Amino acid sequence: MKPHLLLPVLLAGTFGAAQAQQTTPPAGKPEDTEVYKPVPPVVAPGKTSADPPADAIILFDGKNLDQWVSTENRDAPAKWTVGGGAFTVKKDQGNIETKRSFGSYQLHLEWRVPAGISGTGQGRGNSGIFLASIGKGDLGYELQILDAYQNPTYVNGMAGSIYKQTAPLANPARKPGEWQTYDVVWTAPTFTAAGGVGTPARVTVFFNGMLVQNNTVLTGPTRYIGKATYEQAHGPAPIKLQAHGDKSEPLSFRNIWLRELPAAAQ
Ligand code: MG
Repeated sequence: MKPHLLLPVLLAGTFGAAQAQQTTPPAGKPEDTEVYKPVPPVVAPGKTSADPPADAIILFDGKNLDQWVSTENRDAPAKWTVGGGAFTVKKDQGNIETKRSFGSYQLHLEWRVPAGISGTGQGRGNSGIFLASIGKGDLGYELQILDAYQNPTYVNGMAGSIYKQTAPLANPARKPGEWQTYDVVWTAPTFTAAGGVGTPARVTVFFNGMLVQNNTVLTGPTRYIGKATYEQAHGPAPIKLQAHGDKSEPLSFRNIWLRELPAAAQ
């Protein structure tokens, strides 16, 4: 057969197969695949996607840090500076974390690198959200916060990265001095009775409305040196914010809220 004759034959063959599929009567009724229960709960949404829906847990509403404690001493209040509807990292006070513990959740958080920030690379506006704090210091799974506006560094350590694991899919960073948003869906890891990993943690992140982590699988809690692996089984955990030890001017946060996700969503 000449090559130019082959295409019509192939097309006819494909069309014939599709016709055969369409004429095979489907088994059952349309109603067989309609699901009516359980009915999803009615939840009033926020005015905009940045505003908390009716079922959100408010972690910071601009007034105080009542929902937060010191990571080093969970009996002590979080002593970062509150003012102007936001709060600002106080580096000598160390990390802070939520009083409450969470499994899987949807989180909204806004952060701002101060205008006129100094420093370079990892030493320029460094903080982070530990999506599950599993101990003191920096133990946990870090979604990096850093000035990423014309501030090169290793890509799996830039803003929107899962630190030292997965680079963001894009860099939508705004200039220092402007507020930025993270919207996160965190699927907590599960562990077997023997302490092994049942299902690894997964995370989806929108950074200023852009998808930067797409259901990313985490290989373990963040590790500064070496490959991350799961070594410690844990349950629900607080969310922790990082007071990074660099010398640059501290970041601020505002409008933090969370919706707990049902176990079935895992
Ligand atoms: Mg950090």
